Amino acid sequence: MVLEPILCPSCGSEDVVKHGQSEEGKQRYKCRHLECSRRTFIRQYAYRGYLPEVKQQIADMATNGSGIRDTARVLRISPTTVIEQLKKKPKTESGE
Ligand SMILES: [Zn+2]
Repeated sequence: MVLEPILCPSCGSEDVVKHGQSEEGKQRYKCRHLECSRRTFIRQYAYRGYLPEVKQQIADMATNGSGIRDTARVLRISPTTVIEQLKKKPKTESGE
């Protein structure tokens, strides 16, 4: 049995708990992140990843020279996530 992390679609936090079910019978979750504006959500994304907007933010911050730790802190995600995302990003320049 593989447990995939449930991520808040608003802030990307993994600090979520089960929160009953929606009218459609889908599992509902509640984000416990203190600064997150979203209270409950339904898991919509089957992939082990993050919202496109978060990915874009990671890419943008990297482009602007932000460090991995800074990016993780600002986006409230783990540094590991940032690293994974940056690895996936195709390189536009050769040589490093
Ligand atoms: Zn959240």
